Amino acid sequence: MHPGVLHRRFLNDLSTSLFSFVLPLLPTSEELNVKEEVRGLIEKLIKTLEPSARLLSFGSSCNSFGLRNSDMDLVVLIDDPNATIDAGNFVESMAALLERETNFNVKPLPRARIPILKLELAPSPALPFGIACDIGIENRLAIENTRLLLTYATIDPARVRTLVLFLKVWSKRRRINSPYRGTLSSYGFTLMVLYFLVHVKQPPVLPNLQRIMPMRPMEEEEVMLEGRNVYFFDDVETLRREWSSVNFESVGELLIDFFRFFSHDFQFNNSVLSLRAGQLTKESKGWVNDIDVGGLNEMARDRNRLCIEDPFEVSYNVARTVTKDGLYTIRGEFMRATRILTQRPDRAVLALAELCR
Ligand code: ATP
Ligand code: MG
Repeated sequence: MHPGVLHRRFLNDLSTSLFSFVLPLLPTSEELNVKEEVRGLIEKLIKTLEPSARLLSFGSSCNSFGLRNSDMDLVVLIDDPNATIDAGNFVESMAALLERETNFNVKPLPRARIPILKLELAPSPALPFGIACDIGIENRLAIENTRLLLTYATIDPARVRTLVLFLKVWSKRRRINSPYRGTLSSYGFTLMVLYFLVHVKQPPVLPNLQRIMPMRPMEEEEVMLEGRNVYFFDDVETLRREWSSVNFESVGELLIDFFRFFSHDFQFNNSVLSLRAGQLTKESKGWVNDIDVGGLNEMARDRNRLCIEDPFEVSYNVARTVTKDGLYTIRGEFMRATRILTQRPDRAVLALAELCR
């Protein structure tokens, strides 16, 4: 058979296999219900401390990139402008309350840079993996970036969700999804995928939601939160009606191209990935790698190996946890993935299994 036909066939097979790969890894509705109940229960308790407090989910439990048994990310928002609340103290009060009233294993971190409360629930029949949950205070930007990710997913769920979910599983299995061990968070990988679909692919798979301006001239174009412009075009109905990408590449093709781009084309040494603005230079952001200033230690120098601008907190490098070794490993994994997927394997299922080994 002609090699082109074989390749076509492999790509089709790869796309089908990717869908079947991620499907059984999605959370069950039972898991989602239990988690929602838990959130409601904790919210009710927290309201006894501060009546204007609300408890909201963010991260993967509501950006549509959640996997089965993933952690819950929760945040307390206090609506009463007159309530003066110190995050550290509030974490301590919540810890005492939940210790008394629930079965959770409670671990407060009130003096951390960002005070949080960690909760754990032991496994049970309804939740064979238990629950792990982090509760933060007043982190409103996290709610906004969760909504941004969700809106991107909603535009083209079949391609966007499949790619992100696969990359999350892949990065976890290949052990490059550990910010505490020098590699990158799921949030970072997700921003890489979205950057690729908005700025690298031509024609783009997704529009840049932070650049589409409202059609109605009276509408706000700057929405400020904690000193940041958190505007993005979030009118999903209009997007569904008016945005249609002329990029028809399959999810399999996009995956191969994603790996290829980050193996060979992206200039890690001097470029910054910005979902908001496209490719930027480290120099223009002041995120330079090898600051040979005596006072800075190795850790500080490692801060900007991999640079991913947060969509709203633009002075914040989401990938600041990635060390020199971490970046080397991540790039090695991109190359390995490109190799596995382009060496013309005949069965896509086997290639995916090998990829995530
Ligand atoms: P997982 O299923 O692996 O937990 P996740 O989608 O919840 O994946 P996380 O990396 O846990 O992704 O991030 C959850 C949320 O926390 C993100 O939506 C973001 O709001 C915030 N966040 C996580 N990491 C960072 C970071 N490095 N910088 C800024 N915000 C972050
Ligand atoms: Mg999470």
